[in-house]
Amino acid sequence: MKTTHKRALAAFLVLTVPAFATSVQAWGDIGHRIVAELAWRQLDPSAKAEVERLLKADGSDSLADVASWPDHLRDDPTQKDLGKATAKLHYMDFLDGKCVYVPPVDCKDGECVVGGLEKYVAILGDRHKSEAERAQALKFVVHFVGDVHQPLHAGNRDDKGGNDYQVQFDGKGSNLHKVWDSGMLYTRDLKWPAYADRLAAEGAVKLPKPIPPLDNPYAQWAEESCSIVAANGFYPDGHTVDDAYVAKYLPVAETRLRLAGKRLADLLNHTLD
Ligand SMILES: [Zn+2]
Repeated sequence: MKTTHKRALAAFLVLTVPAFATSVQAWGDIGHRIVAELAWRQLDPSAKAEVERLLKADGSDSLADVASWPDHLRDDPTQKDLGKATAKLHYMDFLDGKCVYVPPVDCKDGECVVGGLEKYVAILGDRHKSEAERAQALKFVVHFVGDVHQPLHAGNRDDKGGNDYQVQFDGKGSNLHKVWDSGMLYTRDLKWPAYADRLAAEGAVKLPKPIPPLDNPYAQWAEESCSIVAANGFYPDGHTVDDAYVAKYLPVAETRLRLAGKRLADLLNHTLD
């Protein structure tokens, strides 16, 4: 992409990010809860005890209950500023149009989901930080691991993560982002605990091999999401999400949820050990 185009794109993003950020709910509440629940079930006893301690300090009951918290900060007058400051940490755009993570381009000043994970995992693992700070970091980490696994939170198109891509779904007008957030998941007609049971029953998810020379796992997760978006067929023919699309992509979405759950558990086991 030529520099002038890049600059135009950057200006476009600056103008559109606030609207995008408020409309984004990655996975919707159901997906985030499922990821958190799957992770919870895979925590080792010491990490579980530490998570419980931090949740209690925060006045929260479960990991699933806090998983969507960062999406609702901007609705709460007392948390509005934090919501604003962290709005760009829910997603990223691969600005080179490919799916290769280049930090200064794709995550300037750490302002993307990969940077968000780096920041809050560091706080969570720092025992010198206050309990309140670490509890808050835990809530961001749980949420951002979910976000980065939603393919449209790390895509390579200029359509605000599919929010600008209108589709027909289930006889109604929608957009591709919403369909991936929750629309396809709702076709299972399961509440989140039953949905988590269903996915857990599929057994251990196979982790993709690390992508060399990338030594940043969060960037790898984003690159995987981007590759799903970039593949032929992800953008449905004729802007219509039909049964064939759901049959093909719902299993992909569910694998992303299972991967997010497993990786979140590994991350918490490692960070809180
Ligand atoms: Zn989010």
